[in-house]
Amino acid sequence: MISLEEAQQLILANISSLPSERVSLADGLDRFLSQSITAGRTVPPADNSAMDGFAVRTADVTNASPEHPVRLLITGSLPAEAVPAASVSPGQAMKIMTGSPIPDGADAVIPVEQTQTSGPEVVISHCPRPGENIRRAGEDIREGQVILESGIRLGPAQLGLLASQGETAVAVGQRPRVAILATGNELVEPGQPAKSHEIYSSNHMTLISQVRQCSGIPLFLGIARDNAGQLESCIRAAAHCEVLVTSGGISMGDFDLVKQALDKLGLETIFWKVAIKPGMPTLFGRLRQQWVFALPGNPVASMVCFEQFVRPAILKLQGAGRLFRPKQKVTLAAEIHKKPGRLHLQRAQLMTDQEGRYLASVTGDQGSGILSSMAQAQALLILPADRRQFSPGEQVWAYLLELPQVE
Ligand code: AMP
Ligand code: MG
Repeated sequence: MISLEEAQQLILANISSLPSERVSLADGLDRFLSQSITAGRTVPPADNSAMDGFAVRTADVTNASPEHPVRLLITGSLPAEAVPAASVSPGQAMKIMTGSPIPDGADAVIPVEQTQTSGPEVVISHCPRPGENIRRAGEDIREGQVILESGIRLGPAQLGLLASQGETAVAVGQRPRVAILATGNELVEPGQPAKSHEIYSSNHMTLISQVRQCSGIPLFLGIARDNAGQLESCIRAAAHCEVLVTSGGISMGDFDLVKQALDKLGLETIFWKVAIKPGMPTLFGRLRQQWVFALPGNPVASMVCFEQFVRPAILKLQGAGRLFRPKQKVTLAAEIHKKPGRLHLQRAQLMTDQEGRYLASVTGDQGSGILSSMAQAQALLILPADRRQFSPGEQVWAYLLELPQVE
Protein backbone atom coordinates (compact mmCIF):
# COMPACT_ATOMS: atom_id res chain seq x y z
CA MET A 1 0.00 0.00 0.00
CA ILE A 2 1.29 3.48 -0.83
CA SER A 3 1.25 6.57 1.38
CA LEU A 4 -0.95 9.63 0.92
CA GLU A 5 2.02 11.67 -0.37
CA GLU A 6 3.05 8.95 -2.83
CA ALA A 7 -0.50 8.73 -4.15
CA GLN A 8 -0.74 12.51 -4.57
CA GLN A 9 2.66 12.60 -6.31
CA LEU A 10 1.55 9.87 -8.73
CA ILE A 11 -1.56 11.87 -9.62
CA LEU A 12 0.39 15.08 -10.22
CA ALA A 13 3.15 13.28 -12.16
CA ASN A 14 0.62 11.75 -14.55
CA ILE A 15 -1.79 14.61 -15.13
CA SER A 16 -0.93 17.65 -17.23
CA SER A 17 -3.02 20.75 -17.85
CA LEU A 18 -5.71 20.98 -20.50
CA PRO A 19 -5.27 23.63 -23.22
CA SER A 20 -6.32 27.16 -22.38
CA GLU A 21 -9.29 29.08 -23.79
CA ARG A 22 -10.30 32.73 -23.88
CA VAL A 23 -13.40 33.67 -21.93
CA SER A 24 -15.04 37.03 -21.37
CA LEU A 25 -14.19 38.65 -18.04
CA ALA A 26 -17.83 38.28 -17.04
CA ASP A 27 -17.36 34.49 -17.24
CA GLY A 28 -13.92 34.50 -15.62
CA LEU A 29 -14.87 34.13 -11.95
CA ASP A 30 -13.11 31.15 -10.28
CA ARG A 31 -11.21 30.25 -13.46
CA PHE A 32 -7.40 29.88 -13.47
CA LEU A 33 -5.18 32.26 -15.37
CA SER A 34 -3.12 30.43 -17.99
CA GLN A 35 -0.45 33.10 -18.46
CA SER A 36 0.95 35.97 -16.44
CA ILE A 37 -0.54 39.35 -17.28
CA THR A 38 1.68 42.37 -17.92
CA ALA A 39 0.12 45.82 -17.69
CA GLY A 40 -0.21 47.58 -21.04
CA ARG A 41 -1.40 50.77 -19.39
CA THR A 42 -0.42 52.89 -16.43
CA VAL A 43 -3.20 53.35 -13.85
CA PRO A 44 -4.07 56.07 -13.08
CA PRO A 45 -2.77 57.38 -16.40
CA ALA A 46 -2.15 60.92 -15.04
CA ASP A 47 -1.84 62.69 -11.68
CA ASN A 48 -5.42 63.40 -10.58
CA SER A 49 -7.39 64.77 -7.69
CA ALA A 50 -8.41 62.53 -4.79
CA MET A 51 -11.01 65.07 -3.59
CA ASP A 52 -13.54 67.59 -4.78
CA GLY A 53 -11.86 70.92 -3.99
CA PHE A 54 -9.41 73.50 -5.28
CA ALA A 55 -6.09 72.87 -7.04
CA VAL A 56 -3.57 75.35 -5.62
CA ARG A 57 0.14 76.19 -5.56
CA THR A 58 1.32 75.48 -1.99
CA ALA A 59 3.82 78.36 -2.27
CA ASP A 60 0.80 80.73 -2.43
CA VAL A 61 -0.68 79.50 0.85
CA THR A 62 2.40 78.79 2.99
CA ASN A 63 1.29 81.30 5.60
CA ALA A 64 -2.46 80.67 5.43
CA SER A 65 -4.13 80.29 8.84
CA PRO A 66 -7.65 80.88 10.22
CA GLU A 67 -6.40 84.26 11.51
CA HIS A 68 -4.70 85.16 8.23
CA PRO A 69 -6.58 83.44 5.41
CA VAL A 70 -5.28 83.74 1.83
CA ARG A 71 -7.57 84.63 -1.07
CA LEU A 72 -6.95 83.08 -4.50
CA LEU A 73 -8.72 83.91 -7.76
CA ILE A 74 -10.81 80.99 -9.12
CA THR A 75 -9.85 80.71 -12.80
CA GLY A 76 -12.00 77.74 -13.85
CA SER A 77 -13.63 74.44 -12.96
CA LEU A 78 -12.43 70.95 -13.98
CA PRO A 79 -14.95 68.09 -14.20
CA ALA A 80 -13.53 64.54 -13.96
CA GLU A 81 -13.35 64.02 -17.71
CA ALA A 82 -11.64 67.39 -18.39
CA VAL A 83 -8.20 67.84 -19.91
CA PRO A 84 -6.86 71.00 -18.21
CA ALA A 85 -6.38 73.67 -20.85
CA ALA A 86 -4.81 76.31 -18.61
CA SER A 87 -2.27 76.13 -15.82
CA VAL A 88 -2.62 77.58 -12.32
CA SER A 89 -0.53 80.74 -12.03
CA PRO A 90 0.59 82.41 -8.77
CA GLY A 91 -2.38 83.81 -6.88
CA GLN A 92 -4.85 81.52 -8.65
CA ALA A 93 -6.79 78.36 -7.84
CA MET A 94 -8.84 76.03 -10.02
CA LYS A 95 -11.98 74.24 -8.90
CA ILE A 96 -11.43 70.49 -9.38
CA MET A 97 -13.53 67.31 -9.06
CA THR A 98 -12.36 63.90 -7.82
CA GLY A 99 -10.56 62.13 -10.67
CA SER A 100 -9.77 65.27 -12.71
CA PRO A 101 -6.20 65.57 -14.00
CA ILE A 102 -4.16 68.09 -11.98
CA PRO A 103 -3.52 71.26 -13.99
CA ASP A 104 0.08 72.41 -14.49
CA GLY A 105 1.35 74.70 -11.77
CA ALA A 106 -0.84 73.22 -9.01
CA ASP A 107 0.83 70.92 -6.46
CA ALA A 108 -1.95 70.18 -3.95
CA VAL A 109 -5.72 69.97 -3.68
CA ILE A 110 -7.62 71.52 -0.76
CA PRO A 111 -10.95 69.76 -0.09
CA VAL A 112 -13.96 71.97 -0.76
CA GLU A 113 -15.21 71.58 2.81
CA GLN A 114 -12.01 73.26 4.11
CA THR A 115 -12.58 76.38 1.97
CA GLN A 116 -15.04 79.21 1.57
CA THR A 117 -15.88 81.02 -1.61
CA SER A 118 -16.34 84.72 -1.72
CA GLY A 119 -17.39 86.03 -5.14
CA PRO A 120 -14.66 85.14 -7.67
CA GLU A 121 -12.25 84.09 -4.90
CA VAL A 122 -11.65 81.11 -2.68
CA VAL A 123 -10.61 81.70 0.92
CA ILE A 124 -7.92 79.31 2.22
CA SER A 125 -7.13 79.13 5.93
CA HIS A 126 -4.53 76.33 6.11
CA CYS A 127 -1.49 75.26 4.14
CA PRO A 128 -1.54 71.76 2.57
CA ARG A 129 1.58 69.61 2.13
CA PRO A 130 2.88 69.55 -1.47
CA GLY A 131 1.17 66.56 -3.14
CA GLU A 132 -1.72 66.49 -0.66
CA ASN A 133 -4.88 64.93 -2.14
CA ILE A 134 -3.14 64.16 -5.43
CA ARG A 135 -3.19 60.56 -6.72
CA ARG A 136 0.00 60.04 -8.69
CA ALA A 137 0.12 58.57 -12.18
CA GLY A 138 1.05 54.87 -11.89
CA GLU A 139 0.50 54.66 -8.13
CA ASP A 140 -1.74 51.60 -8.76
CA ILE A 141 -0.16 49.99 -11.84
CA ARG A 142 2.79 50.85 -14.10
CA GLU A 143 2.93 49.82 -17.74
CA GLY A 144 5.15 46.73 -18.14
CA GLN A 145 4.62 45.50 -14.57
CA VAL A 146 3.36 41.91 -14.00
CA ILE A 147 -0.05 42.42 -12.39
CA LEU A 148 -1.30 38.81 -12.19
CA GLU A 149 0.70 35.58 -12.08
CA SER A 150 -0.13 32.52 -14.16
CA GLY A 151 -2.15 29.89 -12.27
CA ILE A 152 -3.98 32.20 -9.88
CA ARG A 153 -7.70 31.84 -9.35
CA LEU A 154 -9.60 34.82 -10.71
CA GLY A 155 -11.74 36.54 -8.08
CA PRO A 156 -13.58 39.87 -8.19
CA ALA A 157 -10.43 41.96 -7.54
CA GLN A 158 -8.37 40.18 -10.22
CA LEU A 159 -11.17 40.53 -12.79
CA GLY A 160 -11.51 44.21 -11.88
CA LEU A 161 -7.77 44.68 -12.38
CA LEU A 162 -8.03 43.18 -15.87
CA ALA A 163 -10.95 45.48 -16.65
CA SER A 164 -8.86 48.45 -15.44
CA GLN A 165 -6.45 47.54 -18.24
CA GLY A 166 -9.26 47.84 -20.78
CA GLU A 167 -9.44 44.05 -21.27
CA THR A 168 -12.71 42.28 -22.03
CA ALA A 169 -11.45 38.67 -22.17
CA VAL A 170 -8.82 36.51 -20.48
CA ALA A 171 -6.99 33.22 -21.20
CA VAL A 172 -7.81 30.56 -18.62
CA GLY A 173 -7.40 26.78 -18.31
CA GLN A 174 -10.22 24.71 -19.78
CA ARG A 175 -12.63 23.25 -17.22
CA PRO A 176 -12.58 19.45 -17.22
CA ARG A 177 -15.87 17.59 -17.56
CA VAL A 178 -16.18 15.28 -14.56
CA ALA A 179 -18.59 12.35 -14.83
CA ILE A 180 -19.96 11.13 -11.50
CA LEU A 181 -21.31 7.62 -11.07
CA ALA A 182 -22.82 6.37 -7.82
CA THR A 183 -22.96 2.60 -7.43
CA GLY A 184 -24.86 0.33 -5.07
CA ASN A 185 -27.92 -1.93 -5.07
CA GLU A 186 -29.15 -0.35 -1.83
CA LEU A 187 -29.20 3.22 -3.17
CA VAL A 188 -32.21 5.32 -4.13
CA GLU A 189 -32.05 8.71 -5.83
CA PRO A 190 -33.47 11.52 -3.65
CA GLY A 191 -37.00 12.41 -4.72
CA GLN A 192 -37.88 8.75 -5.28
CA PRO A 193 -39.75 6.64 -2.71
CA ALA A 194 -37.38 4.55 -0.55
CA LYS A 195 -38.18 1.33 1.28
CA SER A 196 -37.23 1.27 4.96
CA HIS A 197 -33.93 -0.60 4.40
CA GLU A 198 -32.87 1.46 1.39
CA ILE A 199 -30.43 4.36 1.50
CA TYR A 200 -30.73 7.67 -0.27
CA SER A 201 -27.64 8.39 -2.30
CA SER A 202 -25.80 11.41 -0.93
CA ASN A 203 -22.38 10.92 -2.51
CA HIS A 204 -23.48 12.12 -5.95
CA MET A 205 -24.62 15.40 -4.34
CA THR A 206 -21.42 15.97 -2.35
CA LEU A 207 -19.31 15.04 -5.40
CA ILE A 208 -21.25 17.33 -7.77
CA SER A 209 -20.76 20.19 -5.29
CA GLN A 210 -17.10 19.40 -4.72
CA VAL A 211 -16.49 19.38 -8.49
CA ARG A 212 -18.20 22.78 -8.78
CA GLN A 213 -16.15 24.18 -5.90
CA CYS A 214 -12.96 23.59 -7.85
CA SER A 215 -14.51 24.82 -11.12
CA GLY A 216 -14.90 21.47 -12.88
CA ILE A 217 -18.06 20.71 -14.88
CA PRO A 218 -19.97 17.90 -13.14
CA LEU A 219 -22.07 15.44 -15.11
CA PHE A 220 -24.13 13.04 -13.01
CA LEU A 221 -24.54 9.66 -14.68
CA GLY A 222 -27.02 8.29 -12.15
CA ILE A 223 -26.84 5.25 -9.88
CA ALA A 224 -25.53 1.99 -11.32
CA ARG A 225 -26.53 -1.30 -9.73
CA ASP A 226 -23.79 -3.70 -8.57
CA ASN A 227 -23.92 -5.50 -11.88
CA ALA A 228 -20.97 -5.75 -14.25
CA GLY A 229 -22.97 -5.07 -17.41
CA GLN A 230 -24.67 -1.95 -16.06
CA LEU A 231 -21.43 -0.60 -14.61
CA GLU A 232 -19.70 -1.05 -17.97
CA SER A 233 -22.41 0.68 -19.95
CA CYS A 234 -22.52 3.64 -17.52
CA ILE A 235 -18.72 3.98 -17.65
CA ARG A 236 -18.84 3.86 -21.49
CA ALA A 237 -21.44 6.64 -21.49
CA ALA A 238 -18.89 8.91 -19.77
CA ALA A 239 -16.09 8.36 -22.31
CA HIS A 240 -16.20 11.99 -23.51
CA CYS A 241 -15.43 13.35 -20.04
CA GLU A 242 -11.85 14.13 -19.05
CA VAL A 243 -12.43 12.67 -15.57
CA LEU A 244 -14.62 9.88 -14.22
CA VAL A 245 -15.35 9.64 -10.49
CA THR A 246 -17.20 6.59 -9.17
CA SER A 247 -18.32 6.02 -5.60
CA GLY A 248 -18.74 2.64 -3.95
CA GLY A 249 -18.08 -0.92 -5.07
CA ILE A 250 -14.28 -0.68 -4.90
CA SER A 251 -13.58 -2.72 -1.73
CA MET A 252 -13.29 -6.48 -1.35
CA GLY A 253 -17.01 -7.40 -1.03
CA ASP A 254 -18.73 -9.89 -3.34
CA PHE A 255 -20.59 -7.04 -5.05
CA ASP A 256 -17.65 -4.66 -5.35
CA LEU A 257 -17.45 -4.87 -9.13
CA VAL A 258 -16.25 -1.39 -10.14
CA LYS A 259 -12.59 -2.35 -10.60
CA GLN A 260 -13.57 -5.46 -12.52
CA ALA A 261 -15.75 -3.39 -14.89
CA LEU A 262 -13.02 -0.78 -15.36
CA ASP A 263 -10.40 -3.50 -15.98
CA LYS A 264 -12.61 -5.09 -18.62
CA LEU A 265 -12.87 -1.75 -20.41
CA GLY A 266 -9.07 -1.40 -20.47
CA LEU A 267 -8.17 0.48 -17.27
CA GLU A 268 -4.49 1.11 -16.65
CA THR A 269 -4.31 1.13 -12.83
CA ILE A 270 -1.83 3.65 -11.44
CA PHE A 271 -2.59 2.91 -7.82
CA TRP A 272 -5.21 1.02 -5.84
CA LYS A 273 -5.29 1.30 -2.04
CA VAL A 274 -3.68 4.08 -0.04
CA ALA A 275 -2.63 3.82 3.62
CA ILE A 276 -5.16 6.36 4.88
CA LYS A 277 -8.35 6.34 6.94
CA PRO A 278 -10.95 7.01 5.71
CA GLY A 279 -10.56 6.04 2.07
CA MET A 280 -8.16 3.11 1.91
CA PRO A 281 -9.55 1.35 -1.23
CA THR A 282 -9.24 4.43 -3.50
CA LEU A 283 -8.15 3.68 -7.07
CA PHE A 284 -6.56 6.01 -9.62
CA GLY A 285 -5.97 5.04 -13.21
CA ARG A 286 -6.33 5.88 -16.85
CA LEU A 287 -8.96 4.67 -19.26
CA ARG A 288 -7.74 5.79 -22.70
CA GLN A 289 -7.85 9.63 -22.54
CA GLN A 290 -9.75 9.70 -19.27
CA TRP A 291 -8.53 9.94 -15.66
CA VAL A 292 -10.46 7.62 -13.38
CA PHE A 293 -10.90 7.92 -9.62
CA ALA A 294 -12.84 5.10 -7.98
CA LEU A 295 -13.68 6.27 -4.47
CA PRO A 296 -15.07 4.18 -1.62
CA GLY A 297 -18.80 4.47 -0.97
CA ASN A 298 -18.86 5.56 2.64
CA PRO A 299 -19.98 9.20 2.50
CA VAL A 300 -17.05 10.66 4.47
CA ALA A 301 -14.51 8.47 2.66
CA SER A 302 -15.90 9.68 -0.65
CA MET A 303 -15.66 13.34 0.39
CA VAL A 304 -12.23 13.09 1.99
CA CYS A 305 -10.78 11.15 -0.96
CA PHE A 306 -12.19 13.73 -3.35
CA GLU A 307 -10.40 16.42 -1.29
CA GLN A 308 -7.10 14.55 -1.27
CA PHE A 309 -6.99 13.13 -4.79
CA VAL A 310 -9.64 14.44 -7.18
CA ARG A 311 -9.56 18.12 -6.23
CA PRO A 312 -5.80 18.53 -6.89
CA ALA A 313 -6.26 16.67 -10.19
CA ILE A 314 -9.13 18.91 -11.35
CA LEU A 315 -7.15 21.99 -10.34
CA LYS A 316 -4.03 20.77 -12.15
CA LEU A 317 -6.05 20.08 -15.33
CA GLN A 318 -7.03 23.78 -15.24
CA GLY A 319 -3.45 24.95 -14.71
CA ALA A 320 -4.04 26.13 -11.15
CA GLY A 321 -0.95 27.17 -9.21
CA ARG A 322 -2.20 26.10 -5.79
CA LEU A 323 -3.40 22.49 -5.77
CA PHE A 324 -3.81 21.72 -2.09
CA ARG A 325 -5.77 23.27 0.73
CA PRO A 326 -3.67 25.43 3.03
CA LYS A 327 -1.98 23.51 5.84
CA GLN A 328 -2.00 24.95 9.33
CA LYS A 329 -0.54 23.81 12.67
CA VAL A 330 -3.37 23.43 15.19
CA THR A 331 -3.38 22.63 18.91
CA LEU A 332 -5.38 19.62 20.07
CA ALA A 333 -8.07 20.44 22.65
CA ALA A 334 -8.30 16.83 23.85
CA GLU A 335 -6.51 13.50 23.64
CA ILE A 336 -6.85 11.45 20.44
CA HIS A 337 -6.24 7.71 20.07
CA LYS A 338 -5.86 5.93 16.76
CA LYS A 339 -4.59 2.61 15.49
CA PRO A 340 -1.07 2.83 14.04
CA GLY A 341 -0.51 1.76 10.42
CA ARG A 342 -2.48 4.27 8.38
CA LEU A 343 -2.49 8.06 8.28
CA HIS A 344 -5.79 9.35 9.64
CA LEU A 345 -7.58 12.41 8.35
CA GLN A 346 -9.91 13.35 11.19
CA ARG A 347 -12.70 15.89 11.00
CA ALA A 348 -12.24 18.79 13.39
CA GLN A 349 -13.79 22.05 14.44
CA LEU A 350 -11.49 24.98 15.09
CA MET A 351 -11.66 27.79 17.61
CA THR A 352 -9.10 30.50 18.29
CA ASP A 353 -7.67 30.83 21.79
CA GLN A 354 -6.52 34.10 23.46
CA GLU A 355 -3.13 33.96 21.70
CA GLY A 356 -4.87 33.57 18.35
CA ARG A 357 -3.83 29.90 17.96
CA TYR A 358 -6.23 27.41 16.43
CA LEU A 359 -7.64 24.92 18.94
CA ALA A 360 -8.94 21.77 17.26
CA SER A 361 -11.63 19.41 18.58
CA VAL A 362 -12.73 16.37 16.60
CA THR A 363 -16.36 16.53 15.51
CA GLY A 364 -17.55 13.41 17.30
CA ASP A 365 -17.67 9.91 15.82
CA GLN A 366 -15.03 9.51 13.11
CA GLY A 367 -16.73 6.56 11.38
CA SER A 368 -16.56 6.79 7.56
CA GLY A 369 -20.33 6.86 7.34
CA ILE A 370 -20.90 9.79 9.73
CA LEU A 371 -21.57 12.58 7.25
CA SER A 372 -23.03 14.85 9.96
CA SER A 373 -19.57 15.16 11.53
CA MET A 374 -18.19 16.27 8.15
CA ALA A 375 -20.88 18.95 7.98
CA GLN A 376 -19.44 20.51 11.16
CA ALA A 377 -15.78 20.23 10.21
CA GLN A 378 -13.60 23.15 9.29
CA ALA A 379 -10.38 21.17 9.05
CA LEU A 380 -8.99 17.69 8.51
CA LEU A 381 -6.36 16.79 11.11
CA ILE A 382 -3.37 14.96 9.59
CA LEU A 383 -2.47 12.24 12.09
CA PRO A 384 0.69 10.38 10.98
CA ALA A 385 0.55 6.65 10.22
CA ASP A 386 3.07 5.54 12.87
CA ARG A 387 1.45 7.37 15.80
CA ARG A 388 -1.07 5.90 18.25
CA GLN A 389 -1.77 8.62 20.83
CA PHE A 390 -1.90 12.43 20.77
CA SER A 391 -2.00 14.53 23.94
CA PRO A 392 -4.09 17.64 24.68
CA GLY A 393 -2.01 20.74 23.85
CA GLU A 394 0.01 18.88 21.20
CA GLN A 395 0.35 20.57 17.80
CA VAL A 396 -0.50 18.69 14.61
CA TRP A 397 -0.84 19.73 10.98
CA ALA A 398 -4.32 20.16 9.50
CA TYR A 399 -5.79 20.96 6.11
CA LEU A 400 -8.09 23.97 6.41
CA LEU A 401 -11.37 23.29 4.65
CA GLU A 402 -12.88 26.67 5.37
CA LEU A 403 -11.80 29.55 7.56
CA PRO A 404 -13.01 29.09 11.12
CA GLN A 405 -15.08 31.77 12.78
CA VAL A 406 -13.19 33.82 15.32
CA GLU A 407 -14.83 33.33 18.74
P1 AMP B 1 -19.31 0.35 -0.71
O1 AMP B 1 -18.03 1.11 -0.82
O2 AMP B 1 -20.03 0.22 -1.99
O3 AMP B 1 -19.07 -0.94 -0.02
O4 AMP B 1 -20.23 1.20 0.22
C1 AMP B 1 -19.89 1.43 1.57
C2 AMP B 1 -21.00 2.11 2.31
O5 AMP B 1 -21.26 3.38 1.74
C3 AMP B 1 -22.32 1.35 2.27
O6 AMP B 1 -22.91 1.42 3.53
C4 AMP B 1 -23.13 2.12 1.27
O7 AMP B 1 -24.50 2.04 1.49
C5 AMP B 1 -22.62 3.52 1.42
N1 AMP B 1 -22.78 4.24 0.14
C6 AMP B 1 -22.28 3.83 -1.04
N2 AMP B 1 -22.59 4.69 -2.01
C7 AMP B 1 -23.31 5.68 -1.41
C8 AMP B 1 -23.93 6.86 -1.88
N3 AMP B 1 -23.90 7.19 -3.17
N4 AMP B 1 -24.55 7.65 -0.99
C9 AMP B 1 -24.60 7.33 0.32
N5 AMP B 1 -24.04 6.21 0.82
C10 AMP B 1 -23.41 5.39 -0.03
MG1 MG C 1 -21.62 -0.85 -2.63
